[in-house]
Amino acid sequence: MGIEFDDQRVDVSGVDDRRGRGVGGGVAIGGGAGVVGLIIFVIVTLLGGDPGQLQLPAGQGDQAPGQVQGETAEELQARCNTAGAIEKYTDCRLIKVVNVADDVWADEFKRRGLSFETPRLAFFTGQTTTGCGAASAQVGPFYCPPDQEIFFELGFLEQLQQQFGAQGTFAQGYIAAHEYGHHLQTILGTEPKVRAAQQRDPSNANAYSIALELQADCYAGVWANLADKRAENGINLSEDNIAEAVNAAQAVGDDRIQQKVQGRVDPEGWTHGSAEQRRTWFLTGYRSGDIDSCNTFQ
Ligand SMILES: [Zn+2]
Repeated sequence: MGIEFDDQRVDVSGVDDRRGRGVGGGVAIGGGAGVVGLIIFVIVTLLGGDPGQLQLPAGQGDQAPGQVQGETAEELQARCNTAGAIEKYTDCRLIKVVNVADDVWADEFKRRGLSFETPRLAFFTGQTTTGCGAASAQVGPFYCPPDQEIFFELGFLEQLQQQFGAQGTFAQGYIAAHEYGHHLQTILGTEPKVRAAQQRDPSNANAYSIALELQADCYAGVWANLADKRAENGINLSEDNIAEAVNAAQAVGDDRIQQKVQGRVDPEGWTHGSAEQRRTWFLTGYRSGDIDSCNTFQ
């Protein structure tokens, strides 16, 4: 099930295209580990075993559909504005989702009298350096607060889509909207407050992490609601689209992943919330269309 966009124009001006510019060296993930965790867990779900042992075949990202390397910004802009590009190319579709999110959140923040900045959207292959440490292809999508940037390794995302058990392009829309939710938490000041609280009170660090992650799920739901209502540069959601997002949110629930990887559920090890919590908070945001409904810290 595709995503139905109001218009097909794609604006690549906010894209930081690092494809084909991989850096050598280590693949350790630095300080942003809590944020990065979403997709690390997904990899574990997909492949099983210890995250440290997981490897994608070298160069896999190069061959993924919708992955073109070495384009100039002008070439990317031109390709993403050819007929059918949003359907055909994952990168163009993700850029479009973020374009819609930029418009939705700029309007919503303005309505609330809040200042707003758009995040950058980075695509990379292999490894890349971020303000949150080095990131590798194994990490998948994440948001890095110091850079105010969302990072996608598209080869990985293709694999996610094929093996996720959460088919449908709106599963990708949910993931992008969740990462965008972390950007909102950063510009609203929630993210630094939570990181400080975790340092003061390490015994509750996981509880804080879960609240932060569930709020990003809720914001993704609010985005879906507001984007669906927009007259221009919005999306027209079907019930199938919402089912795809809910399915994806549940698939990355800590209990589902633990059950699959460890064969048992250990709530003390949760950092993102259960399948039921993630479903509930996405739907809370989607039904309300109001970020004030997203107080997951109570
Ligand atoms: Zn997250």
